[in-house]
Amino acid sequence: MGTSYECSAHKLHAGKRLAGPRRVRLLPYLMLALLSCHMSARPHILIVTATLGYRHESIPTAEQVLGHIAEEQGIDVSFARNEEEVRSRLTPSELANVNAVFFVNTTGELPTTAADALITWVRAGGTFVGVHSASDTWHAVPAYIEMLGGEFIGHPPETTATIVVDDPMHTATRALPSTHVLYEEFYYLGSVDLPRLRTLLSLRTRPEPPGDAGYFPLAWEKAFGNGRVLYTALGHREDVWSSPWFRAHMSGAVEWAVHPPSARAKRRAVRH
Ligand SMILES: [Zn+2]
Repeated sequence: MGTSYECSAHKLHAGKRLAGPRRVRLLPYLMLALLSCHMSARPHILIVTATLGYRHESIPTAEQVLGHIAEEQGIDVSFARNEEEVRSRLTPSELANVNAVFFVNTTGELPTTAADALITWVRAGGTFVGVHSASDTWHAVPAYIEMLGGEFIGHPPETTATIVVDDPMHTATRALPSTHVLYEEFYYLGSVDLPRLRTLLSLRTRPEPPGDAGYFPLAWEKAFGNGRVLYTALGHREDVWSSPWFRAHMSGAVEWAVHPPSARAKRRAVRH
């Protein structure tokens, strides 16, 4: 994590020689200052773009767009771009230093030791964001599919469809218009347990002729143990990544990922 800021606790400690009783009285303030130091450290997200199956041409653009968004929000970023980096960065000790893990257009059966470490970390309170073919990853790891909330089963040819915002109150959708027409590769997803998801985006018609009415979830948030998960099925095409609409969606997802709800908001959510 970045520690380029100057902590007030350090200044306090360095600037005063504390006598006995005074030291005791200052202790609570010192602890508060140390706490605020910890809280003001720059958040850190790990972006995984490794592929062992299909490799999307949009990955470099995706990395660039997410890098810019993180920079704007004062977030540090590191990447795991291949199998070796996945193996070395998705470990309990490395994950202890990140606020959120993003799987962006990953594919295939990445190392299972990494799956175990990631799933354990999210269950214990970590935050995971999956983008597009994150759902075409680790099909052989049922706990990963359960964590994500669904899995890729196929897609029709790229087409134009109208995306509906299901939940305009969510950080990842609040900047989006209520509907948006997009040319994209739209996924059909299986193993989707809708009652357990807070859906954010969907299609209301099948994205291929004759376009029958239906409900096709495209993005959601869900809980996994003590952790939080957000998935968006969009992000196939390079020009989607470059579009202001998708950038706003991703910017919201990044903001959501590094700002867990406060204990007060959680209590409110339980009451309702
Ligand atoms: Zn794709």
